[in-house]
Amino acid sequence: ATMPPLLSAIANAGRHGVLVKSAVVMERLGQVDQVALDKTGTLTEGTPQVTDVRPVPGAGLTEDELLTVAAAAEHPSEHPLARAVVAAAAARGLRPPPVTDFASAPGTGVTATVDGRRVAVGSPTRLPAAADGPATVVAEELAGKGRTVVVVEVDGVPSGVLGIADRLRDQAPEAVAALTALTGHPPVLVTGDHAGAAVPLGRRTGITDIRAGLLPEQKVAVVRELERAGRRVLVVGDGVNDAPALAAAHTGVAMGRAGSDLALQTADAVVVRDELATVPAVVALSRRARSLVT
Ligand code: ADP
Ligand code: MG
Repeated sequence: ATMPPLLSAIANAGRHGVLVKSAVVMERLGQVDQVALDKTGTLTEGTPQVTDVRPVPGAGLTEDELLTVAAAAEHPSEHPLARAVVAAAAARGLRPPPVTDFASAPGTGVTATVDGRRVAVGSPTRLPAAADGPATVVAEELAGKGRTVVVVEVDGVPSGVLGIADRLRDQAPEAVAALTALTGHPPVLVTGDHAGAAVPLGRRTGITDIRAGLLPEQKVAVVRELERAGRRVLVVGDGVNDAPALAAAHTGVAMGRAGSDLALQTADAVVVRDELATVPAVVALSRRARSLVT
């Protein structure tokens, strides 16, 4: 028997480096007319680097001490920012101690007990104590440079700020242009990061509709808003924080290389070859296959 078009398309998508989980998904990919893209790990390469280590004056930590407690708290996390912090500590030859009571809040950060002290590492706008004081001054300075900023709190005291930078994927502008042409609408950027980091990066890809500072459920709300405008939405993301939006979307695609297990399981398709151009490629494959289905 000749292979039904949607099954051939799944095989073809596999050759492009995308694992499409079913024929139904293969069909739905071609129905989308709006794409919502995550930033960290999706538009960017997802291997961010710590660029700034800034203890808060008066909080009593050296740069190395700050990085050590931050890396200890981040060690159990699979978030790209956590891996950047752990790698920066390793690059300085630091030895973060083991932690207990680790917890992570998607879109916010992590907490853990390090040598008997409660340490929190996360978003300057979401950590309770970070909102005022000298840490804010440093956070705003780094945010103004377009850095992703995380605050380190020790026993509730904002003790330092880390600046982190991630590279835009080389293929991001062409993928955005291809998705715009295929769907008839420019993609929307949905990110938990602050606008200072998201807006310049989004603009470099040609995206103008940029929604920043979103918690996971607020990414879902953007999907719902686009649906109310009559769109069928393709969400592309990689993080635990993207899982609810991946589930809510008409179709969800996860970036596989640095993607969290939850995102990979929740998504309808997984980009195995770490290239963003595979996303418009599979939408086009679906369109072609659907035109052959009678
Ligand atoms: P994105 O939507 O761009 O992938 P996230 O929602 O994962 O971003 O993260 C949003 C913000 O929450 C980050 O910019 C950071 O401030 C904070 N954050 C989330 N997870 C962590 C973590 N493991 N360590 C430090 N900060 C974190
Ligand atoms: Mg992400």
